[in-house]
Amino acid sequence: MIETTDTSAKILGLDDTFSFGCDSGLTCFNKCCRDINLFLTPYDILRMKRRLRIPSGEFLKTYTFPLFPEEIGHPVILLKMMPDETKNCPFVSEQGCLIYDDRPWSCRSFPLEPVADTLPPAFGIVKRDFCLGFGKGRTSRTVRKWRDTQNVALYEEMNGEWKKITHHEDFTSKNFLDGYFRDIFFLGSYNIDEFRNLVTSGELQKYFDIGNSVLKRIKSNETELLRFACRWMRCVIFGEDTLKRR
Ligand code: SF4
Ligand code: SF4
Repeated sequence: MIETTDTSAKILGLDDTFSFGCDSGLTCFNKCCRDINLFLTPYDILRMKRRLRIPSGEFLKTYTFPLFPEEIGHPVILLKMMPDETKNCPFVSEQGCLIYDDRPWSCRSFPLEPVADTLPPAFGIVKRDFCLGFGKGRTSRTVRKWRDTQNVALYEEMNGEWKKITHHEDFTSKNFLDGYFRDIFFLGSYNIDEFRNLVTSGELQKYFDIGNSVLKRIKSNETELLRFACRWMRCVIFGEDTLKRR
């Protein structure tokens, strides 16, 4: 599949308009949900495994595979496409996405792609050769409005917490995580139910002073648990002062 960021198109700000419309009446319907490299963020995994009502370990085993690219410095997780000739995403059906409300960030944000970490935010347009949605839809819709309708805000806030690890200078200076630290990264980023076991078993509290109100919050709210896991990784991997050690 050919996928390009349209370099001829101007870079869009939040209040610029663009014309794109996706609906089931188009002959390209669902074509974008096959044969893709779909990288999953920790918050994507949390939402998807919760939607499927399975533990994160089972989700990882059944639906994903890991890669360990040296140039990135940390393990990444990709969604497995079906092993047959369709190479479909496992969650696509004739009616569309079966997990639509919990689909990953990259499915939500298409066709907009953030340009690095610019402020104010800026976006390029990703083109796919078969996608007929370009030029369709309301021409007066702004990037801001489109992003609101796709509910990307919480995803991007959570991705921001994770980027404090993945964009850390130890990664950007090309140090590769391995052994113990790679296990820590994998657990805190991708296997949230296993991380919860570490908390509920009391094992983590042997090394960190976690107040009762924090404990209560992270035990009852998975999003808060993931935020906490990001702080834990920064403390353990980089020695940052994000948790109080015993
Ligand atoms: S318009 Fe584009 S995004 Fe929508 S179904 Fe067709 S290929 Fe997919
Ligand atoms: S998760 Fe949903 S939207 Fe994303 S590729 Fe799969 S079927 Fe398509």
